[in-house]
Amino acid sequence: MINENYEVVVGLEVHCELSTKTKAFCSCENKFGGTPNTRVCPICLGMPGALPKLNENVVKYAVKAGLATNCSIAEKSKNDRKNYFYPDLPKSYQISQFDEPLCNHGYVTIETPEGEKKINILRIHIEEDAANLNHDNFGRGTFVDFNRSGVPLIEIVSEPDMRSSGEADAYIRKIKSILEYIEVSDCKMEQGSLRADVNVSVRKKGSKEFGTRTEMKNMSSFRSIVRAIDYEAERQIAELEAGGTISQDTMRFDEVSGKTSVMRSKENADDYRYFPEPDLVGIKLSKEYVEELRNSLPELPESRIKRYMADYDLSLKAAKFVTDSKYYSKL
Ligand code: ADP
Ligand code: ZN
Ligand code: MG
Repeated sequence: MINENYEVVVGLEVHCELSTKTKAFCSCENKFGGTPNTRVCPICLGMPGALPKLNENVVKYAVKAGLATNCSIAEKSKNDRKNYFYPDLPKSYQISQFDEPLCNHGYVTIETPEGEKKINILRIHIEEDAANLNHDNFGRGTFVDFNRSGVPLIEIVSEPDMRSSGEADAYIRKIKSILEYIEVSDCKMEQGSLRADVNVSVRKKGSKEFGTRTEMKNMSSFRSIVRAIDYEAERQIAELEAGGTISQDTMRFDEVSGKTSVMRSKENADDYRYFPEPDLVGIKLSKEYVEELRNSLPELPESRIKRYMADYDLSLKAAKFVTDSKYYSKL
């Protein structure tokens, strides 16, 4: 049980792989798995001199996600380089978006025990996925599979609006359901196509200021997200109650022990030396294009819940049950 003098604050960065036919900046097939390093080319392998070209459908899918989550779509945006070294990133930079994301200021609503609640979305931007690192169980080292390198992602950044692990769970389920409805991702968490960075802080009830947050990266199951938030909130409260302070760290959640531990201290935007991607032109969208996509969206779960309640006299619970998954709701 969370100490009742405290409030938990959660913000999620949800990464979702888009199900376009080809990768974000080259024509390699975008598909999960397969023989390692068979869906690769000089562009997604980061060979010197290879030039990226933005896949139009990446923009289209990302705009759809933005519209379905009530975002405003930027008429003008651009790609930026986020620089860091890691073996899963052959170029040593990730093509992402920094100060001009494609979608801004949206929201989704979730059901809470206290009723409906709006969770605000700060932004949605497009970026590319990194390669897969497969750690060998027999101590022979780590194998890099570049099939995932350059797979298109959207990152959906929420405001720190959630106040419990339950609300975070409801939020990510809602996001998943919307993305499935609009058919921009298969959202298979077990394959990593939907994963979240989970930011957690605590504060005394009634306090106006947020506490210092920690971040748990790349969580890919509802259950671990809930467990990690509960554990981390209790750890932070115990630390504060003992007179300590929270440092802004990146944490690891261990599934077996159910505990979090410090991985590294948090990096800042400055550390990434973001700068505009010089090999790509800017993205400009016409109002007509955006409106066309808005009109192409299917009926979303929220509206369907209301319609099923009205047309078939279903309870909220029953209507929610049949609309949660696009698959059931279609039957
Ligand atoms: P990054 O972690 O990439 O540096 P941001 O500073 O934009 O990016 O914050 C990312 C996430 O952290 C957002 O989802 C936001 O809601 C959440 N967040 C920010 N401050 C807090 C806080 N005090 N407690 C919990 N979550 C927070
Ligand atoms: Zn490629
Ligand atoms: Mg983060």
